[in-house]
Amino acid sequence: MASPKLTKIINDDKEFLFQNYGERLQASFVKGDGSYLYDQDNKKYIDFFSGIAVSSLGYSNPALHKAIHSQIDRGVIHTSNKFYNQEQIEAAKLISNTSFPGKSLFVNSGAEANETAIKLARRYGLSINKKKFKIITFTDSFHGRTFGAMSATAQPKIHEGFGPIVPGFIYAPFNNVKAIRKLLKKDKHIAAVMLELVQGEGGINVADGDFVKEIFDTCNQKGILTIIDEIQTGIGRTGLTYVYQHFNITPDILTLAKGLGGGIPIGAIHAKNYLSEYLPAGTHGTTFGGNHLACAAVIAVLSEIKKNTFISNVNTLSDHFFERLKKIKQKTGYIKSIRGLGLHIGIELAEDGNKLVDEALSEKLIINCTAGNVIRLMPPLNISMSAVDEGMNILEKLILKYGEIYENTQNKLR
Ligand code: PLP
Repeated sequence: MASPKLTKIINDDKEFLFQNYGERLQASFVKGDGSYLYDQDNKKYIDFFSGIAVSSLGYSNPALHKAIHSQIDRGVIHTSNKFYNQEQIEAAKLISNTSFPGKSLFVNSGAEANETAIKLARRYGLSINKKKFKIITFTDSFHGRTFGAMSATAQPKIHEGFGPIVPGFIYAPFNNVKAIRKLLKKDKHIAAVMLELVQGEGGINVADGDFVKEIFDTCNQKGILTIIDEIQTGIGRTGLTYVYQHFNITPDILTLAKGLGGGIPIGAIHAKNYLSEYLPAGTHGTTFGGNHLACAAVIAVLSEIKKNTFISNVNTLSDHFFERLKKIKQKTGYIKSIRGLGLHIGIELAEDGNKLVDEALSEKLIINCTAGNVIRLMPPLNISMSAVDEGMNILEKLILKYGEIYENTQNKLR
């Protein structure tokens, strides 16, 4: 039962907001500290979700807050891309230093970063041949909700009801070496291949090494661009600064958002130097993209991630999560598989996981379910080990409880 305060919030939400997110989870947060959030009734929650992999430095992070406050105190939140912007330059330098030498273009969200990459790839391809504009993406991908990004997303349910989508996307089966080899060999008009190396919304599906190698070897040989969508995986989430660094490859274009601003909305593409020529003056832009405040946040986030022990700590935490999950899996057939890299973790259940998410919330643990039956854990990257154990104790109890109910039901059906 929702408290009186929450009931009022729910009713106002229904009255004043589009209901495009369906029924929201039953909480509204007013305060945050580290990896804990406090709701409208001052109840404390452990966060294993980070607002969909955004609040990667947790809540009330001193370095992030200091950077944002001092930018606001200087009185320059926004001036527009008509002017030079030193925070934007510094943020781009940090992206280059942590990935590969190249240039960045800042936007406002993940979908917009992918739109930018799609536009760049098309102009690149069409400069070579007037039919070379096709982009290959993969089944169960998710690239965003704007028209181009939605069309790149190979999930029919995302396109439903919108009429004709943007032409030029070819959907290939994820992790299928033979299929991608055949497609890249057959079609001379491919401008780019775009993929997530760990599909986040698709259910934490990790790309196989031989699949990635096939794509990169062929694309590099044929002058086809490689675009890695790092919107969910980037900025330390998978135990390296960028997920592509696990695969011994360098993409032509990276797309970033979510964790990049630690909660301040910002997206970016980062591309090899020569590619900036394909988006010359007048071809692309945004009023807000990369404003001073958002870039001050990026500088703070990347500076934290770059610190010596930050990433190694993510890996220590990740090992602990996986060890605990493996032990739970040994106790119940309710867990079908455990997948992921770093603190981007999927627990595939034998059935829909949404009731487990709801019950976890009532036990003051924030988790998420994606692709129907995959519990997704994406805690702040600097979560404390004690908070991990606190949350994992709740999760273990619930998995074993629902596992037992599930088995009893299955036994009755037999
Ligand atoms: N790409 C990936 C891999 C994502 O996970 C998402 C969002 O979940 C997006 C793109 C879209 O980002 P945004 O919601 O910021 O537009």
